[in-house]
Parts: sequence; C-alpha cells; structure tokens
Amino acid sequence: MHIVVIGGGPGGYVSAIRASQLGAKVTIVEKKHFGGTCLNVGCIPTKVLLHTSELYRTMLHESSELGIDIGQVSLNWPNLQKRKDAIVSQLVGGVEVLLNSNGVSVINGEASFTGKNQICVRDESHNETIVDFDKAIIASGSESIILPIKGVDNDGVITSTEALSLEEIPESMCIIGGGVIGCEFASLYSSMGCDVTIVEMLPELISVMDKEIVGILKEELLKNGVGILTSTRVNSIGREGDGLLVETDKDAFKVDKVLLATGRRPKTDGLNLEAIGVKTERGAIVVNPLTMQTNIGSIYAIGDCNGGILLAHVASAEGTVAAEHAMNKKSKMDMRTTPSAVYTRPEIASVGMTEEEAVKTGYGIKVGRFPLYANGKSLIMGEGGGLVKFVVDESTDEILGIHMAGPRATDLISEGCMALRLEATVEEVISTIHAHPTVSEAFHEAAHAVHSSAIHLP
Ligand code: FAD
Repeated sequence: MHIVVIGGGPGGYVSAIRASQLGAKVTIVEKKHFGGTCLNVGCIPTKVLLHTSELYRTMLHESSELGIDIGQVSLNWPNLQKRKDAIVSQLVGGVEVLLNSNGVSVINGEASFTGKNQICVRDESHNETIVDFDKAIIASGSESIILPIKGVDNDGVITSTEALSLEEIPESMCIIGGGVIGCEFASLYSSMGCDVTIVEMLPELISVMDKEIVGILKEELLKNGVGILTSTRVNSIGREGDGLLVETDKDAFKVDKVLLATGRRPKTDGLNLEAIGVKTERGAIVVNPLTMQTNIGSIYAIGDCNGGILLAHVASAEGTVAAEHAMNKKSKMDMRTTPSAVYTRPEIASVGMTEEEAVKTGYGIKVGRFPLYANGKSLIMGEGGGLVKFVVDESTDEILGIHMAGPRATDLISEGCMALRLEATVEEVISTIHAHPTVSEAFHEAAHAVHSSAIHLP
C-alpha cells in the first residue's frame, strides 16, 4: 500500500509516521517547513515568547515578594527571538529525524492532484515529480483570515506570523479579535510593556469557553493594563503620523501596530481538488467526521484543512485515525474529550460541556467549584486567582465538563480529559488520592464541592 501525505504539519507528519508503523510505504510532501503552522509560526513560538513574558512580568513586579532582589530587570528581545528560533529549528529538525527513522520518503515541493491516484509535486526550481499512490491523506492546513476592513493593507497591520518576529516591542498595539490567539498575544505583549487594546465584535472574549472561567482571564488582562472593547467593530485603519488610527463604531485611537487575530481558514487552493471531484464547502474539505474520508473513499483530509477544530492535537488525532483507517483498521474519531487550552496568564483550559451547553442538551446538572486562593500550591506560585469547576449530570454523577483557570491549567486539563474518557463519576475522582501540595488538589476539591462542600473551604 502506497500512501501519500500532503503537508508536514502536526496532522501530516503524525499520519505519515503512523501509516509507516502499520506497514505502508509512505511518501510525504511538504512545500515549506516540516512542523507546519504549529511548530514554525503557531503553538511553539508563541509559547516560547509567552514563557519569557511571564517570567519577565514576575521578575519585574513580584520578585521582591518572592524573596529575590535582582536590581534592574530588562528584556533582551533579540536574545529571546534567537531562543525562539533555536527551539523551533530543534523541533523541526526532530520531525525530519522521526520521518527518516520511520522510513518515510520525503519530497520537498507543492503537491497538486493530477488524478484520483496521482499527484504532481513542483519544487522551487519548477521541477516536477509525478507520484502515484493507492491512498492519500491531505493535511494542507490553514491561513489567517484577512477581514475586508478599510486600510487593512497599511504598513504596521500584521498577522500572528509577523507578530512573532517583530524587530522590537511596539509601544502600543490594537488586537482585532478576542479569541484564543488574540488573548494569547494580548497577554504576551502587555506583559512586555506594550499598551494593548483588544477589539472584539462579540459581547465576550473567547466566546466558545465557559463564561465564568473566561471572566477570570478578562479580569487579569484588565489588571495587566489591557484595554478590552467587546461588542465593538473596527470600521477602518488609517495612517496617522508614524502610527495607525483605528476607528471603531464607538471610538478612534492611535496605535503603533494592529494585529489581525480574526481567525483562520482552510488552505486548499492549489491542490486541484475540483479536477478529481473532492467536495469542499467554503474552502474546507468535506469529510466523514468518524473516518476522515472525503467523498472519494481513498482520499482523506485531516487537521485545519477540513475546517473542524483548528488545533494541533486535533490534527494529530485525526491523522492517526486516517492512517489507521487507510490501513484497514477500525479506528474512529471521538471528539468528546478534546481539550481546549489557552496559554495566557492565568492559563485557562476546558474539556466537555459548559454549564450552558449541558442545560441546553437537556441535562439536570450539579456544579462544583474550588477557588485557587484556597490551594496551597497556587499560593506558593503566586497565582491564587483561579478556579476549577465541574459540570456533572445530576442523575448519574457522571462528569460532563471540567473548566479551569490558573497555573498549570493547560497540563492539568488532561486529568479532566481522562476522567471524561473513562466516563468517570465524581465519586471516582473523590476516591482518587491526589499528591500534596499540587494544583491538582483543587481538581479533587472541586469534585468534593459537587457532592457536599470542599474540605479546605470554610
Ligand atoms: P499545518 O500545521 O498548517 O500544516 C500544513 C502544512 O502543509 C504546512 O507545512 C504547509 O506548508 C503544507 N502544505 C500546504 N499545502 C501544501 C501542498 N499543496 N503541498 C505540500 N505541502 C503543502 N494549536 C494548538 O493545539 N495549540 C496551540 O497552542 C496553538 N497555538 C497557535 C498559535 C498560533 C499563532 C496559530 C496561528 C495557531 C496555533 N494553533 C495551536 C493551531 C495549530 O497551529 C494548527 O491547528 C495546526 O498547525 C494544524 O495542523 P495541520 O497539520 O492541519 O496544518
């Protein structure tokens, strides 16, 4: 069986490795850099910068309280950029090593379909290679959406990609879009001393997540000096002196940079899908959500290009299922326990249903909360402002959703994923001993709070 994978992001390279592990002959085609958006201009570089921004903020404002006298603290932006680039190239190199050690053949260039069992790959020098295959997995990813706002083509209007490699930290920035990426950049740049304003069209930031948890993040962003304009629309961006004038439907203000964080859309142009009859809807490849097959059974589409949940771990999970299905295993996608993680300060994370979703679905629910001001480890870390919250089916005691704000929330959520995956009851979490002192004790305590009341709350 020869499987061709188009795109070397976390969807594509994982599916290539999995297919090879199962005995397929695999060829992967990548037109730019292995690791895709995630490793090169997404998950990894943002988190490198966020990590330092948090340390910097802590050193600047909290060092004395932590018992460290360090004199003057200053940010070395060029060194931070070097560190970010070094980590990215280490990880990208790692992907190449993995592909190689798994026997996956690599072709550099842009692939497009020339038949239902054939692609043509064109490299930078316009050389073409024809590759025949039995099955194909498309993992071509996504690109930033540039909204048709007047003045969006002005110098200084940037996307997340440019925001990762600015020459210096701007004095002020307007972030259009208060979703996950917008909030992460707001947390990052405000911690580094930039005057940040988020403009969001909807009434809430990150509207897909639990309102109470997002409220905690909003409070912290405001405390860090971030301006938050919700239910506000940007009408135009004009030049004013050496800066940019952002005009909203309510107000106008001047900034150095405008960051467009208004979402991403599937990138499928250039693949020549029409010619072979693969169905798309508004650019997204239509797939069977269980098997990742397109309307042509031997062609799969995984990750951002199918327009599902645009997350690296979803792309990898879909890549695994597609590879296994293509190799005649009975694997199926199950999205119910997909975590969402936002790497702001505080981190926020969730899995399963929010309170509102559970009620809407018809469940009678119980909710348990535990605030992190009563958790020893959170206080030790100087981050007592968070919360762990359980949403539970009243009649069966089964956990429906878990939502968190606080230190390590993005790591801790995996315990929630496992609980949901195993259809755990609250009683089962309560009877699981959690190490002390850890933030995970707050998870344990929130479970107690569902049944009666937490142990460590008056
Ligand atoms: P991609 O990673 O986009 O990879 C697609 C690859 O296909 C690219 O390398 C591209 O060059 C290649 N390609 C495209 N067309 C062709 C062709 N015709 N021929 C050959 N090659 C082709 N997700 C998380 O889970 N956690 C995070 O913390 C996170 N942070 C993010 C931060 C930012 C700023 C951004 C922009 C995204 C972030 N994401 C995060 C989302 C995550 O990066 C994507 O969901 C993930 O990369 C999707 O993986 P993919 O394999 O589908 O596509």
